[in-house]
Amino acid sequence: MQAVVALRRRKHEGLTERVALRRGPFLLLWLLLTGLAGAQAPEQVAPGVWFLLGEASKGYSNTTVIEMKDYLIVVDANYPGRTKELMALMPTLSPKPVRYVFDTHAHGDHSYGNSTWTKAGATTMAFTGVAKEMDRWEPGRWQTFGERREDVRATGEHDVERPKKIIAGDKFVLNDGQREVDFLFLGWGHTPGDGYVWLPKERVLATGDAAVNGPRNKLADAWIANWPRVLDKAIALQPTAVLPGHGERGGVEILSGQRQFLIDLYAAVGVEVAAGKRGAEISVTLPARDTNWVPKDLALDIESTTAEIVGKAPAGGLPHVWK
Ligand SMILES: [Zn+2]
Repeated sequence: MQAVVALRRRKHEGLTERVALRRGPFLLLWLLLTGLAGAQAPEQVAPGVWFLLGEASKGYSNTTVIEMKDYLIVVDANYPGRTKELMALMPTLSPKPVRYVFDTHAHGDHSYGNSTWTKAGATTMAFTGVAKEMDRWEPGRWQTFGERREDVRATGEHDVERPKKIIAGDKFVLNDGQREVDFLFLGWGHTPGDGYVWLPKERVLATGDAAVNGPRNKLADAWIANWPRVLDKAIALQPTAVLPGHGERGGVEILSGQRQFLIDLYAAVGVEVAAGKRGAEISVTLPARDTNWVPKDLALDIESTTAEIVGKAPAGGLPHVWK
């Protein structure tokens, strides 16, 4: 056990060492709980704001934790297995309770832990578009894909729990005098309900999968032509730290890179469609600048983009099957 702790400390020097001094016993417990699973230590982005990288091999999304005067806000409920891990490590960050859990969108890796959070006393919340997407696609996706996962089956449930608080309009603000947190709907990009979490003072932006860092996005529920315009609004906020739904955190280059990939993909597929090609006839080569966002199998993205161009409607608005 000691060897595990020593290893983790060497790997994550800076922050881990500092946190260990203050929260030694809790951190030790957390390391023992998660160390063997390969989870990374939380990164402090600003005072009282942490970014937790989700383990890709388990399908987990990333998590942002925001400390308010009396409570914590968690961005993205995650899968239930990760929810439990997060609950175990919260005391290593702060003794305050988790009051709000925000689902950035309706996908399972961001929302299937909702009921687990609710049982622990937190209030889940999301924009109207998230609840609408759940009503449209669930419980089909839960049953088709979710129940293949042990952690989802273990809930004993057969549908995603809808967020308890639905945010109408496009902005909701929590401000307790100590910190302001803005929940923003900037438009339909990755999904019709995409929510961003913006800390105006700290200039930190959590994006969900509206921007990811790496080849980890699916476009099936997207409005691909509109998405770059939405990202323009996110870029206009001028964040200094961008916390994506998947992949390492970074700066505004995550937003601009995701945006450029979508623009280039849409243009390249558009050329093929205009030439009369369809389905497997379409192949595109994207510029080197997009490499970070190009998935191993680009065919699914091409399929979604083709559907949108040919159908003259957002890909996500057309009938489609999640693959
Ligand atoms: Zn995701």
